[in-house]
Amino acid sequence: MSDPQCDVVIVGAGPTGLSAARTLQAAGKDVVVLEARDRVGGRTWTDHIDGQMYEIGGQWISPDQTALLQLVAELGKETYQRYREGDSVYIAPDGTRTVYSGDMFPVGESTQAEMERLIAQLDELAARIGPTAPWDAEDAAELDSVSFHHWLRSQSDDEIACANIGMFIAGGMLTKPATTFSALQAILMAASAGSFTHLVDDHFILDRRVVGGMQSVSEQMAAELGEDVVHLNSPVRTIEWTEDSVTVGTDAMNVSANRVIVAVPPNLYSRISYTPHLPRLQQVFHQHQSMGLVIKVHATYQTPFWREDGLCGTGFGAGQIVQEVYDNTNHGEEQGTLVGFISDVNADAMFALDEDTRKQRILESLADFLGPRALEPEVFYLSDFGAEEWTRGAYATSYDLGGLHRWGRFQNDPVGPIHFASSDIAAQGYQHVDGAIRIGQDTAAKILST
Ligand code: FAD
Repeated sequence: MSDPQCDVVIVGAGPTGLSAARTLQAAGKDVVVLEARDRVGGRTWTDHIDGQMYEIGGQWISPDQTALLQLVAELGKETYQRYREGDSVYIAPDGTRTVYSGDMFPVGESTQAEMERLIAQLDELAARIGPTAPWDAEDAAELDSVSFHHWLRSQSDDEIACANIGMFIAGGMLTKPATTFSALQAILMAASAGSFTHLVDDHFILDRRVVGGMQSVSEQMAAELGEDVVHLNSPVRTIEWTEDSVTVGTDAMNVSANRVIVAVPPNLYSRISYTPHLPRLQQVFHQHQSMGLVIKVHATYQTPFWREDGLCGTGFGAGQIVQEVYDNTNHGEEQGTLVGFISDVNADAMFALDEDTRKQRILESLADFLGPRALEPEVFYLSDFGAEEWTRGAYATSYDLGGLHRWGRFQNDPVGPIHFASSDIAAQGYQHVDGAIRIGQDTAAKILST
């Protein structure tokens, strides 16, 4: 194959890379997309396990994710709502199980009041600091120097309230223990979703899914770009650059262009060799963005049995192996599917077990929420992005303690003709497919404007 030349070469065919390519191509630019895997979609991936369709990566869309909703509409795709009729289940740290309705966990009155106070406080901070430049807030350094765990406990003596509020960001979003990231990083997470209240409201944050699965959004974008544009099985190994040109090398070819967009998560930037090497600043701060770790549990049953018990399938338990569970029955499906999440240290503990014990422990945890019928799924599968060479964790990357205010302001800066883009350095929609679409389109627009 002869070595192609184009205007912009894009590394990575996830939602970021493909939306950038789509925007550039629509403006008349020649683009080449190089993807390491044998498929497009990156951390969105729809697959069939024992005949059952599972969304192994990202799937949900919330109402504020308008860039993604608009793209889905432009592509002529349909969405559907998550099943949510009935009561939810809460498991307290002492193991007590309570069925409840409404948004607030069934905790004691004073804990409820404390949770509401903390939510209001986080809403205020998120509104004041915003998602675009949290490092510019006057108290950015202060908020970035204390872990979210310790910040919560400096605001409240109510341990249950702190654990429950911590769960929404730690296990629920950044998938790292709340001791390992800062209060500022937690506030960015909330601000990027519109408010902390949105993160607490599963009806909002886990609202809709794409019929046919979220990966189909990327598959359709790739198909529309054209067969000769997207090259699969093409991990980029090298980027040679001058101020106004790049040569991007895979094992099989070199692509020459005026610009490159590195549309991979930040933890993978240093898998590429840059000649000349990147400036000191990037070499240093790229080391401080690391992936969280979460296991997405899929279990399909003959019927959605929990609905017969008046349950919607939603369960929360900050101290449980499976910390959140939801009805994840596919569009038009007769069986019932549950999805659960096992985060950070609990994920470590599960991966340390042999396969059969792991499955048993996880199903027992689902049964604690929804009853013994949860023990006998027809299909069972665990998403394991930590074992994927071209992701290395889930859901996304975040800074270690103190990193956000120190380096966040530089994360979107290009180095010569090299642009960096991914959901992990997006503002609105941070860590989500919506953020990927936004930063893909914005990065393309920046290139088009120069
Ligand atoms: P990616 O999707 O990671 O794409 C990057 C691409 O770059 C990949 O295809 C990778 O193979 C490729 N690549 C990497 N290195 C190289 C290289 N050297 N050369 C060539 N190619 C390379 N988001 C939501 O909005 N809703 C959800 O419900 C949700 N749930 C999630 C559940 C899980 C289990 C996971 C893992 C993620 C979830 N997310 C969710 C997050 C969402 O999937 C990501 O934010 C989004 O996919 C990021 O898109 P991206 O293009 O920036 O990165």
